[in-house]
Formats: sequence, C-alpha cells, structure tokens
Amino acid sequence: MYDIIIVGAGPAGLTSALYALRANKKVLVLEAKSYGGQILNANKIENYPGIASISGFDFANNLYNQVTKLGGIIKYETVNRVEADKTVITNKDTYQAKAVILATGSENRKLQIENEQKFIGKGISYCATCDGHFYKNKIVAVNGGGNTALEDALYLADIAKKVYLIHRRDEFRAEDAYREELEAKNNVEFILNSTIVSLKGEENLTSIIVNDKDGKEQELVVDGLFIAIGQEPKNEIFKNVVDINEHGYIESDDGVHTKTSGIYVAGDTRIKMLRQLTTAVSDGSIAATMAIKEMAK
Ligand code: NAP
Repeated sequence: MYDIIIVGAGPAGLTSALYALRANKKVLVLEAKSYGGQILNANKIENYPGIASISGFDFANNLYNQVTKLGGIIKYETVNRVEADKTVITNKDTYQAKAVILATGSENRKLQIENEQKFIGKGISYCATCDGHFYKNKIVAVNGGGNTALEDALYLADIAKKVYLIHRRDEFRAEDAYREELEAKNNVEFILNSTIVSLKGEENLTSIIVNDKDGKEQELVVDGLFIAIGQEPKNEIFKNVVDINEHGYIESDDGVHTKTSGIYVAGDTRIKMLRQLTTAVSDGSIAATMAIKEMAK
C-alpha cells in the first residue's frame, strides 16, 4: 500500500514526489518512458526563476536525483487503468494507494501525413536537442511556430548548414526574441503561410513538399525534418475517474482536484492557461500538498 501513486515522471510528477517524500509519505512514481518528460527536449531553460540558464536534460537529472536521494521509487511501467478506489493497474502489476496524482503530460503532435511514421529516426525527429547532432553541416527543416519550433531552429542553426523554418501562418506563437535571433542568422530561411503536404524518400527522407496558402507547391531537399507542432495529452484511459475536454485535457475545479476524491491532476495534462515548467512544478507541489492534507482527514 502506497500513500501516493504518481503517474508520470516529468517535472510535475517528480515535484509531487519530492513534496510527498519530504512529508514522509510512501510514494511510487510510474513512468511509461523515461523520467524528465517534455523538458528533456528543451535545449536551454532561461525562464525558470532563480536559475539563469540550464539545459532541460540537466534540469530533469537534477530533479530525478533529488527525488531518488529521498528514497523515491520510480518504476518504468505503463498505466492502463486507475480505479476510483485508487487501484492502479499497469502492464506489469496492480498497485494500491490512498491518493493518485495524474501527471501524464502530453505527447508530440504528429503531422498525420503519409510516410511520417516510416521516416521516424530516418530523417524525421520530434526532438532537436536529442537528434540535432546527426545533422552537422546538413540541410534540415523545422515545422511549427511555437517556442519549441523556434528554439529548435536556433539550436539547429548552429549545427546544420541550412535550416528552413516552416510555419502555417505568417505570425509566430513563439516569443518575439526567438524570431529576432533567427532573423539574424544567415543560414535560416522562413517559409511562412505554408504546410507540409508530403514526405519523399526511399529508405531515408530526402525531400518535403510544401504548399503555401495560395496552393503554390515547392519541393525542399532536406536531410532532416524536425516536427515541433505542439503536444497532445493522452487521457482517454482515465475517463472513468476524470472529466476531459474536447482536446483531451483533464478538467479540474480549482487546479488540481479532479471529479474523483483522492485523484489529483498536475502539469501540462490538465486544462490551464499556461503550460510551462514553472506552472508544472507549481501544480506538482500543490497536488502533493492537497493529497497529503486530504488523506489525513
Ligand atoms: P505550441 O506553443 O502549442 O505551438 C505549436 C505550433 O505548431 C503552433 O505554431 C501551431 O500553429 C503549430 N501547429 C499546430 N498543429 C499544427 C499542424 N497540424 N500543422 C502545422 N502546424 C501546426 O507548442 P510548443 O511550441 O511545443 O510549446 C508548448 C508549450 O511549451 C508552450 O506553452 C510553450 O510556450 C512552452 N515552451 C516554452 C519554452 C521556453 O520557455 N523556453 C520552450 C519550449 C516550449 P499556430 O500558431 O498556427 O496554431
């Protein structure tokens, strides 16, 4: 019997674990992939108060070490179901807790065009900081207009020979500073008002076909394509215990409480105004604190 089971070992989940462990609770963190979550993809974090600059990888490792040094247990299992009585069923085992915190984050959104799956790892990547070094002096494209895409383009501009930044509108969602930095690079070309319509190649990706909003088509010869078009939560399996909106995010009345007593939500996977590292760790600390308080009642 655990006090708290946390589903997801990203910043929200690990912060919940940190708070619960420091309150002397018996904690289990269940993670399907690797600890760190989406922050692993951040090349540099420069908007976390008190830390001028840190890589996402180092941030995740520091947090992981902080949790495991306190005796936190992380098991790499996929959660398939959570019951209202706080039974958690994974692909390997069944666990029982007094409270459950869902901190499942979200997954990379796919373009959903032909051959996308086929070229993953053969020219297509969703993580510039993980795979960028494979494209030294090569030609790459980045798709997306958010902070991730522009950060990826900046990161790749220092590695690759040429970077195309393809975005479906002519305005970026990303902070202006990124656009200005990119405009100052001489190996970055913006391809705006454009969408990728097809991917070409035999074994590996060799070119992409891009359509602009007037229907004009162009072929870009590329060695790599980094897709950074946002995230999608995967919460269908929790529908028996939480309400989710039309985009798949979990509803919470005041931030961390779900409709089921003793089941909490934290981080990017919930409906919220701002999905950032700061708000993820904020949720994680509040969810754990609420769980601890309410299980004592
Ligand atoms: P995002 O902000 O949701 O941006 C996604 C981008 O992809 C948007 O420009 C969107 O276009 C585009 N897009 C969505 N679906 C598309 C499709 N099917 N085809 C083509 N383009 C598509 O996602 P994100 O950049 O991954 O960032 C997620 C969150 O993390 C944000 O809150 C972001 O600020 C934060 N973040 C922060 C940092 C940092 O502070 N250092 C770094 C990375 C991420 P439209 O603009 O036209 O909708």
